[in-house]
Order: sequence, then structure tokens, then C-alpha cells
Amino acid sequence: MPTAEEMNRGFDAVKYWAEFKDYNAKPVQHGLLIDYEFCTNCHSCELACQMHLGLPAEQWGIKTLEYGPIKDVNGKWEWTYVPMPTDLCDGCADRTKEGRLPMCVHHCQAGVMFYGPIEELAKKAAEKPKMVLFTLDEREEA
Ligand code: SF4
Ligand code: SF4
Repeated sequence: MPTAEEMNRGFDAVKYWAEFKDYNAKPVQHGLLIDYEFCTNCHSCELACQMHLGLPAEQWGIKTLEYGPIKDVNGKWEWTYVPMPTDLCDGCADRTKEGRLPMCVHHCQAGVMFYGPIEELAKKAAEKPKMVLFTLDEREEA
């Protein structure tokens, strides 16, 4: 990290972070793509994941974040929901290695969750606005 003196001399933060390496980082192969324009906040993904991971009521592998209510540009009230994987998410490695979809994706009745290789999901994300891509840490069971 830069010293306080370096910071005061006009430390180049852009250059620093461009050169920064996270030595704990590892490449990520797969992800979850969410089309949050059409998420209904039905909680199916949350519950399916909770059962899959065998978690107690106060723990979640994925949780829906809520933004709103706010008024949009036309003065209409709107709510936005975005399900976000937590640190407890293991990427459903046991299912995906058998060619099955993650539980959250499988149970999303609105069909707004997609699983796949990062490169493919990134292309799909570019098809429309209001998409978000989460990278997955696909941990095998110990
Ligand atoms: S990939 Fe599996 S573990 Fe991760 S949020 Fe979805 S259901 Fe839960
Ligand atoms: S199951 Fe689908 S529609 Fe329901 S909260 Fe999860 S992402 Fe949204």
C-alpha cells in the first residue's frame, strides 16, 4: 500500500490498481446471469437453494435485493429485485458436473436466471439492458 506521504504527493491510484495483483485470485469459469427486469421477487430461487444446501432459516445461498419503491421518469412507482449469490453458494457443483442446472435456475418460474460459461453469459448479457452477471466459486464438497 502507498504511504501517506506518497498519497499526498499525488499517488496515481489508477496506475496502482492496474498493477495490483490478488495472489489469492483464481480463474472463474461459470456464472449466473440474471435478467432483473423481469424478476418477480417470488423467492423460489432462495428457497430452492436453501433446501439444496441444507441451510437453517437464517442462512441463504442466494438472496433477493430490493431497490425501491422509487418513482421512474414517468412518475410511476417501481420496484427492482436482483437475486445475489452469497458466500454460501457453492455454484451447485454437484449438479452441474452431472450436466444439470443449478437449483436456483431450475426453479425460477419467470425464466430470468441463466447458468453457463462466463464468455457465453457475457454475450447474452449484451443482448439487452438490466442484466447482471455473477461469477461463481464452484467449490467441491470436502
Ligand atoms: S448456484 Fe446453487 S448454491 Fe449457488 S445460489 Fe444457485 S442454488 Fe444456491
Ligand atoms: S426465482 Fe426467478 S423470479 Fe423468483 S425471485 Fe428468483 S430470480 Fe426472481
